[in-house]
Amino acid sequence: MGLVVQKFGGTSVADAERILQVCQRIEHTVSQGERVVVVVSAMGKTTDSLIDLARAVAGECPNPREMDLLLATGEQVTTALVSMALQARGQAAIALTGREAGIITEPHHQRARIVRIDISRIKAELEQGKVVVVTGFQGITPSGEVTTLGRGGSDTSAVALAAALHADRCEIYTDVPGILTTDPRLVPQASLLAEITAAEMLELASLGAKVLHPRAVEIARNFAVPLVVRSSWSDAPGTKILSPNGARGDLHALEVSRLVDGIHIDRSQAKVALLGVPDRPGIAAQLFSALAAEGILVDLIVQSIQHPRNYNDIAFTVPRAALDHALRLCRDLHQTETIVADGAISIVSISGVGIVGRPAIPAQMFSALGQHDINIEMIATSETKVSCVIAEQDSDRALRALGEIFQLEPTPALIPSVEAPSVRGVALDQNQTRLAVLNVPDRPGVAAQILQSLADKGIPLDMIIQSEPAQGVNNIAFTIKTTDRYEAERTLQQTGQAVMVDTDVAKLSIVGLGMAQAKGIAARMFQALAERDINIEMIATSEIKVSCIIRQSRAVEALQAVHQAFALNGSQEIPIERS
Ligand code: ASP
Ligand code: MG
Repeated sequence: MGLVVQKFGGTSVADAERILQVCQRIEHTVSQGERVVVVVSAMGKTTDSLIDLARAVAGECPNPREMDLLLATGEQVTTALVSMALQARGQAAIALTGREAGIITEPHHQRARIVRIDISRIKAELEQGKVVVVTGFQGITPSGEVTTLGRGGSDTSAVALAAALHADRCEIYTDVPGILTTDPRLVPQASLLAEITAAEMLELASLGAKVLHPRAVEIARNFAVPLVVRSSWSDAPGTKILSPNGARGDLHALEVSRLVDGIHIDRSQAKVALLGVPDRPGIAAQLFSALAAEGILVDLIVQSIQHPRNYNDIAFTVPRAALDHALRLCRDLHQTETIVADGAISIVSISGVGIVGRPAIPAQMFSALGQHDINIEMIATSETKVSCVIAEQDSDRALRALGEIFQLEPTPALIPSVEAPSVRGVALDQNQTRLAVLNVPDRPGVAAQILQSLADKGIPLDMIIQSEPAQGVNNIAFTIKTTDRYEAERTLQQTGQAVMVDTDVAKLSIVGLGMAQAKGIAARMFQALAERDINIEMIATSEIKVSCIIRQSRAVEALQAVHQAFALNGSQEIPIERS
C-alpha cells in the first residue's frame, strides 16, 4: 500500500462546500488502496483576519508567542472540520495539531524552521486505517511552545511530513493548474509545465513562489520527495517537481541542515572583457550571436554599468581552447577598442538553496576570499549560486578558504541527469531597484566590506555584478527589493560610498537546466530584446539562468518577446486564479 501526503491550501478549504469536495478527493485516493496523510491551511483568508484582529487590540507588534498561539488556531479549525466530515461520511479519520503530529521546530516564533518530525503517532493512526489530518504551518519547540513557520508555511509542513514518512508522493492542491512557463496575467499565452526540476523552480523565484513556497521546494530537493502541484478543481495531472540529485538530507535536521551545499571550481575557462562598449540595444545580441554562430560555448556572462553612463563593460568566459577564436571575433565586431583577455583564471562558486534570501552567505564568501588576499575579478549571482572569477594561481587557496568557512569539500559540477529543455520558463521581477557603488578600489576584501554592511542589516541582494576593473577601480552593481531601498541607501552612505540608485528597472530571467549544454541560448534572449529595440543594462548568468536588467517601461513587452522567442507560447489560455 502506498502512502500519499495531500495538502490543501486556503482557497481549497474556504467553505463547507469546498471542504466536502476535498473529502471526496481524499476518499477517492483511499479507494485506490492508498494511505493518506492530509495537511491543511487555514480556511480562506483566516490567517489575515487573525493578524488584523491582533493588531487591532495590540498595535503593530503583538507579542510573537501569543501571536503564534493565535495564528495556529486557523489550521486547527480546518483539520477538525475535515476530519469530522470524513468521519460523518464513514471514513475513519483523526485530526492532529502540530504538537500531536510530532512536528518539532526551532524556538523562533513566527518564522520557525522544522528540525525533525517524530512520526510515531501518525504511523500508529495510519495503521488503524485512519486518514490522518494534520495542521499545516505549525509545530512545537523542544520545550513545548507553539510555533508557526511563517506565511505560506503549510506547503513546508506537507513536504516535510512526506520526507519524514518516506511517502511515495506529495500532492499540493491549489487554485492554479500547476507551474506555468511565465506569469499568465502578463502573457496570456503562458503554458502549463508538465514537469520542472526543483533547481529550476527555485531560480524562477518570482514565478514559482506564488504557487509553492521555496522552503517546500528546498525540502523536496534535499530529500528527493516526489512532488506534484495540481488544481483542486480538476483531475488534470498538474506539474511534477523533479529532484534528480536529491536524497542527501538528514531527517534529524530537516530544515536546518547546510545552507551552502556545494563548492565548485572550474579551471578550464578563459576570460574576455570588452570595456566601454556603447550602451544601446543590440550590442550584446550582436556579440553573443557571433560567438554562438561559431560554435563557441559561453559560460559566465557579466555586463555591468560603467561610469560615466552610456558605456558598459561586458565580460564573459569561454573554454580556454576557444580563447583566440573568441578574441578574433570580438575584434572583428569593432564594438570597442579595449578588449582584455586572460587565459589564467578560475571560476569558484558556491551553491545551495540556503542562499536564497540570506544576504550573509555571499558576504561570507567574499570575506573569506578577501581575508586570504584573493582578488575577485568578476562576480555573477543567481538565486542559488554565487560565482567569482579569480586568478588561476589563487585557486587552491580559494578552495581552502571556502572549504573552511562552509565546512565542505569541493563538489563536482552539476550534470543534469534528466533530459531538460534549455529554457523552461521566463520570469519577470518588477519589484527591483538597482544600486551601483562606483569607483571601488580593486583590492581584496573591498566587495566583501560593502556587501557585508548590507548583509548586517538583513537586506537580501539579488543580482550582484562586479565588472572588469579599469584603472584600478571597479563598479559593483546589484539589485534589491524596492522596499529595501531607503535602508540600503542609508547603509551605503554610512560606509562613505558613492551610490547611484535607479528604481525604474526590472529583471527578466530565463531558466533551464538544459542551458548549460546548449550554445547560443543567451544570444537568443538578447536577440529577442534587440529586435524590439530594448536596451539591456546589466547581465548576469549562472549555468541554468540568464538575467537581464531592463527599463521598467519595456518590461512586459520584453517578457512577451522572450517567452515567444523560446517557443513557450501555449495554444490554450490558462484560466487565471480565482480569488
Ligand atoms: N495559513 C497560513 C498562511 O496564510 C499558512 C498557509 O496557508 O500556508 O500564511
Ligand atoms: Mg497558502
